[in-house]
Amino acid sequence: MDTDSRTLAESVAELVRIPSVNPLHAGPRAEEHGPVGEGALAARLAERFDGCGADETVLDEVLPGRPNVYGRFPGRSGRLVVVDVHTDTVTVENMTDPPFDGRIESGSVWGRGALDTKATMGVLLALLEAWHRDGLRPDPTLLLVGSISEEVGGLLGATRFRPWAEQQGLLIDQLLVAEPTGFRPVHGLKGLVLVRVTALGTAAHSALPDSGVNAIEAMAPVIDAFVAENARLRALPAATELGTGTVSVTQISGGTGSNVIPDRCSISVGRRIVPGEDPDEVLERMAAVARAACPIPCEITSLLPTTPDGRAGSPAFYQRPDSAFVQFLARAAGTEPAVAPFGANVLRYSGLARELAVFGPGSIDHAHQATERVAVADLVRLAGILGSWLSPA
Ligand SMILES: [Zn+2]
Repeated sequence: MDTDSRTLAESVAELVRIPSVNPLHAGPRAEEHGPVGEGALAARLAERFDGCGADETVLDEVLPGRPNVYGRFPGRSGRLVVVDVHTDTVTVENMTDPPFDGRIESGSVWGRGALDTKATMGVLLALLEAWHRDGLRPDPTLLLVGSISEEVGGLLGATRFRPWAEQQGLLIDQLLVAEPTGFRPVHGLKGLVLVRVTALGTAAHSALPDSGVNAIEAMAPVIDAFVAENARLRALPAATELGTGTVSVTQISGGTGSNVIPDRCSISVGRRIVPGEDPDEVLERMAAVARAACPIPCEITSLLPTTPDGRAGSPAFYQRPDSAFVQFLARAAGTEPAVAPFGANVLRYSGLARELAVFGPGSIDHAHQATERVAVADLVRLAGILGSWLSPA
């Protein structure tokens, strides 16, 4: 491994060695290493930002002990670009590998978060450290954002960063959200509305079923109605590469005993939404589908926190694949633009920058697994792409 590769690998490995498991994924292995959450990583990032030429470093406490961290690196031109890297990782309880040793072995950096998504932060910091040492500055001013709680908990860091950027009146030219996309610039993601439907029956002894109202039996036609709704959606023409919306019944619960007529039955229903669909209208339609099908009274509640602009879920993110930023990234990486099925912080950023893309090394299929690694060759490739984007001189 040459010196440059070694420096990039060490830069990423240092971040992997600082546990930052999302507190909603806490467990005994995560807790062995001190307080769970993004706090220690954010503090270390602030130090590294200060050490490589940031003219402003902000720790923005989103939840107690869980700050976002922002570093601004002045450029030579008037342009401003943002890179958002979420600082939380998923659980380590399922790992068959030491989660935080950050070892560099067999051409990869190993450990939780190596791929998702400390690689981009580590590579950017290694570049900024080298440029700072050589007295170079990027062409655009770079605002580097470490955001908490992307994996679970509702994109809290991104939800906080957006109004912070708006209050500062930032005019952002390009915004890159780091995620493992296999170096394909992702220009579209589906949005999500998630509801719980609860049928409200009356309990009775199952020997006397007519004296009760069976909530589980009442839910059967509701499930059928959502299956039909999914078929209706799938038959619609797709307006973009994201395809059509879909709806899936994902959870069911109900009943208190094998000899009791159940008074409650609940299902969770997830609706993936595409560009042009409004989350509030989608929620209304889901409620109408449930009410029309359910033979007894039912309650419908949204399972997602309302978005900062008061909506029942995230609208889709979509930008045309021929946008200059998407095309630049595809050309620099030698890949094609793509759309992706997963959620990401970019769902909070529509309209915040002139152009947006989700981009990073490695495949999402390899994230969240029993082992996690990022290839050092991919770090070198990423450094080349980000270097040509930021164009230091
Ligand atoms: Zn991620």
